[in-house]
Amino acid sequence: ALPKIAWIGLGIMGSPMSENLIKAGYDVTGFTLEQEKLDRLTSAGGSAADSIAEAVRDADVIVTMVPASPQVEAIAYGPDGILENARSGALLIDMSSITPQTSVDLARAAAEKGIRVLDAPVSGGEAGAVEAVLSIMVGGGQVDFDAARPLFEALGRTVVLCGPHGCGQTVKAANQLIVAVNIQACAEAVVFLEKSGVDLAAALDVLNGGLAGSTVLTRKKDNFLRRDFRPGFRIDLHHKDMGIVTDAARDVGAALPVGAVVAQLVASLRAQGDGGLDHSALLRTVERLSGA
Ligand code: NAD
Repeated sequence: ALPKIAWIGLGIMGSPMSENLIKAGYDVTGFTLEQEKLDRLTSAGGSAADSIAEAVRDADVIVTMVPASPQVEAIAYGPDGILENARSGALLIDMSSITPQTSVDLARAAAEKGIRVLDAPVSGGEAGAVEAVLSIMVGGGQVDFDAARPLFEALGRTVVLCGPHGCGQTVKAANQLIVAVNIQACAEAVVFLEKSGVDLAAALDVLNGGLAGSTVLTRKKDNFLRRDFRPGFRIDLHHKDMGIVTDAARDVGAALPVGAVVAQLVASLRAQGDGGLDHSALLRTVERLSGA
């Protein structure tokens, strides 16, 4: 029989991901803070729990998909948390993007309760979650990875064990660095092209066919063309991720000269009240700097 799943965190990513598990035949019990997301889960064929304790009590696999390290710590530790209430032998898969150190610490604390842990952050955005084509970067042990592989394959297309606990998060941090710098470069090109009077849609099409082409340009093209900055991936979350990669790179002595500038641009956008917008809204900053 398929393992029984508890899913904590039914947001932009967690809702479609948990629904893909239900479609694949898994029994999913969910908990999250918004009642409408719990209703959505039950309509999709899952069950809603009233607490984390209730959700995890008889689960074989517990998946967490929440915003950041403080939320992962809040739901893992504490009397109503996962470590106190999950059964020994359960597998905890944290798919949130958090600091690598939080993942390492969680794995150590869980091991004392006989709970196994994988860090398994994802890339591919809301569309990747809906279409079950996420890239899943995993940290932890080979045996646990092998046990979780069928579940991962119901959620994504590229699934890789990157190394021990925390390594999935380190790779995800690198992913967020590349994506932010790429969006910033595209935003600068968009403003340059428009100010030059070139047809933007035509320009982006031909750019995408050459070496400048990217998943960012493909996925964010319409956001740029329509100035549609509904999330998607919120600036608040990318700000969190730029902090993670900046700290982690400093710890190992890796220079991020361009990444550091883009981290400042993300922080500035957030400071101007745009934290709830999609990260393609970096275009707004370039426009402001250009007097557009
Ligand atoms: P979101 O804000 O849409 O969803 C977060 C969910 O966590 C909400 O449903 C909230 O109720 C729940 N939550 C928060 N605290 C909780 C608690 N204490 N107990 C139970 N539930 C709690 O965020 P999202 O966009 O789905 O992102 C989730 C994670 O995935 C983040 O770490 C993000 O960086 C990462 N991520 C997001 C995307 C994306 O495109 N949105 C892509 C890849 C990775």
